[in-house]
Amino acid sequence: MDALFNALSGWRWPIAVSMLFLLLLWESASPYFLFFRKRTDNRLRHGGRNVFLGIFNGLVVAVVFVGLWAKMTDWTAANGYGLLNLASIPFWIHVLAAFLMLDFWTYWWHRFNHTLPFLWRFHKVHHSDPCMDVTTANRFHLGEIVFSSILRLPVLLLAGATLGELALYETLLFANTQIHHANIGFSSVADKVLRIFLTSPNMHKVHHSRLLAETNSNYTSLLSVWDRLFGSFRLRANPHEISFGLDDTDQPNQQTIPGLFLMPTEKNNPPITPQNHQS
Ligand SMILES: [Zn+2]
Repeated sequence: MDALFNALSGWRWPIAVSMLFLLLLWESASPYFLFFRKRTDNRLRHGGRNVFLGIFNGLVVAVVFVGLWAKMTDWTAANGYGLLNLASIPFWIHVLAAFLMLDFWTYWWHRFNHTLPFLWRFHKVHHSDPCMDVTTANRFHLGEIVFSSILRLPVLLLAGATLGELALYETLLFANTQIHHANIGFSSVADKVLRIFLTSPNMHKVHHSRLLAETNSNYTSLLSVWDRLFGSFRLRANPHEISFGLDDTDQPNQQTIPGLFLMPTEKNNPPITPQNHQS
């Protein structure tokens, strides 16, 4: 394991938890949508459910996958495999290039989750939240997390990234993911500046829209350049008019923890993908 990973490993969880509490406070002081006005009980239930999924998934990743990723990165470096190990390059160029490659993969992985019906069955758990806020950043089906964690192994092999570079990338990715899911009052000017480089709250609001032509846009989670480069960048003139969620996941029994776990197995609601949706 490399020094960058060791330096970061003690900080990742404190950063994520601090961001969560700061953004929860911001959402309380200046919410963008009034989902939970005078309904603290609903807010607690909603947030508790989402955070439970995040903790559960995080534990599975920590127990099962971090060790596998460490073995893969150590083996790749020891044998000189991977694009970044083809030549001797300075440390910071290595870090930057690994960062770009990992984010490029994250963009396409997310896009495949929308375009391949089997993957959409799992990813729709994330999109089924009708009240997107900072806790939605934790709301993923375990199946999606397992698939992405397994596929990360060949990505690490191909890129030649280190475990420290992956940890740095994941830390920044999750911090930005928390920000762009948060239900915070964020000025349009600040959003415009942020989205020059990063996925902004207004970009990601469009991605969580019920209109699937909008859902199938803005796939990037960190660097906004990928959506511009691959033609999936989209904005709504007034994001206040966006309605979050999916039309086929609004039943109360679907919005419980067992309902979210079972959502990929639902037979009555065929996955709606760009191929069969007309907006
Ligand atoms: Zn998505």
